[in-house]
Amino acid sequence: MNIAFPLCKKPFSILLLTIFLSTSSFSQHYVAKDVKVTILSTMLAQQGIGEWGFSALIEVDSNKLLFDAGGRERTVLENAKELNIDLSTVPTLVLSHWHDDHTKGWLTLRKAMVSVAPTALSKTHVAKVFFDVRFSNDGKDSSSRKKDSTAYVYTGGKIIEHRFFEEILPGVYVTGNVPRVYNEKNYYPEAKLKSADNHFIEDNIPDDMSLVIATKEGLVLISGCGHAGIINTITHINKNLAGQSVIAAIGGFHLLKSSDEQIQWTADNLKKAGVKYFMGAHCTGIDAVYQIRNYLSLKRGDCVVGSVGDTFDIHNGFTCGDLNR
Ligand SMILES: [Zn+2]
Ligand SMILES: [Zn+2]
Repeated sequence: MNIAFPLCKKPFSILLLTIFLSTSSFSQHYVAKDVKVTILSTMLAQQGIGEWGFSALIEVDSNKLLFDAGGRERTVLENAKELNIDLSTVPTLVLSHWHDDHTKGWLTLRKAMVSVAPTALSKTHVAKVFFDVRFSNDGKDSSSRKKDSTAYVYTGGKIIEHRFFEEILPGVYVTGNVPRVYNEKNYYPEAKLKSADNHFIEDNIPDDMSLVIATKEGLVLISGCGHAGIINTITHINKNLAGQSVIAAIGGFHLLKSSDEQIQWTADNLKKAGVKYFMGAHCTGIDAVYQIRNYLSLKRGDCVVGSVGDTFDIHNGFTCGDLNR
């Protein structure tokens, strides 16, 4: 084979330029200076209302976005009010996957905000398959998200679907559909999808999508339910933003029914990935958070159970209530 030969024929300066471009591709991307995450929906609440659901406000330099919309129609609206957060200044929404506990507030929030500011929550990002019809075991179909989308577009909202890893704001990425390299199976097989050849197949929530923020300190990962698996998600991120460690993982990671062996395997891989801050909210499981803290030898304040009103700041780490710090 003479594959190497043409490369050797390149002038030395071109060869150096090629090496420089391939190793410095990440440094050409926007890197956020400030990142703040505020939890607006999860089970534990010292302020506001606790519920089975997830939502967080993400502030990246001058941009703001809402990640997930809570499990009940008004939870995020009420909690934002109690925490003095003005959602009318937030133009963008990312929905992690189709499940009700992340999407129930979607229309309520948009309708409540549109009269204050037409651009508020006017752009919604989802992954492909989010709007596909789901079927229950007795064959009944549900197209709730499709119906929601029609009502959302009617308010003037715009929906953007992602199959691939993509930058949606400077330094802010969505993962799109996450390849399932490892068999993490962090979901319950509750619903079915129809395959292209019209057969029922297990709904492994192919639309499960996370958010990634690039900072000088490293990458910040925000997850809704983590059905794709946190290690599959980090593997996918590492492939797309090579050379950057995920230093913070925040959100729901669906480890609540995982065995001790699965949690240890997850923790081993989080350690290899370089995770220094971990907030397990929503479906992560309280004991799973403590096991991860132990396996990763993290300080109490750097590995916490998420609670409504808790914040993460890229410069100062977590600020939590008395109940969970
Ligand atoms: Zn879910
Ligand atoms: Zn969930």
